Amino acid sequence: MRLSEIKLAGFKSFVDPTVIPLPGNLVGIVGPNGCGKSNVIDAVRWVLGESRASALRGESLQDVIFNGSAKRASVGRASVELVFDNSAGKLAGQWGKYGQIAIKRIIQKAGESTYYINNIHVRRRDVADIFLGTGVSGRGYAIIEQGMISRVIEAKPQELRAFLEEAAGISRYRERRHESELR
Ligand code: ATP
Ligand code: MG
Repeated sequence: MRLSEIKLAGFKSFVDPTVIPLPGNLVGIVGPNGCGKSNVIDAVRWVLGESRASALRGESLQDVIFNGSAKRASVGRASVELVFDNSAGKLAGQWGKYGQIAIKRIIQKAGESTYYINNIHVRRRDVADIFLGTGVSGRGYAIIEQGMISRVIEAKPQELRAFLEEAAGISRYRERRHESELR
């Protein structure tokens, strides 16, 4: 699976609907300070289920919604959609038959988030399920941010083990076992 497009609307500084195409395996996003580069990464992690406001550089969950500028009024909702190319058929399971997987999260000012896979309303865990054990998640190692390297170096043994289990693809089974124990 390859991330081929990021679509944003009302998310942080991306108030107007914006499509960011990612045409190759290596894409650089460049621009002056404050133009929204980090907001793009925040958007990716947000769709994948990150809900800690601090990890999204805000104070509350609603801070991801465009909150107005000198020229523009604030808006009532934010949405981000990640479009993955699955034409190589790498994804197994329920969604494996689709050549394209579009994962969307929407938040309204007053409400909770809703998640969609190919425009079908799903739960947050359905989205997490697709990526479990791949390193791609809100907290996975696929996104290496400022400070992350030193977090790994300084991690406690238990945290380090969680990184290794995610890399080895074991976390999927651990999660399953945890769920069946809860039932
Ligand atoms: P740098 O090069 O300094 O890292 P950057 O390109 O990564 O900059 P970002 O941190 O992505 O910049 O973007 C910061 C901008 O996003 C700021 O101008 C900030 O006002 C704007 N911003 C963040 N959240 C919102 C929001 N909810 N509504 C409107 N604008 C927002
Ligand atoms: Mg930045």
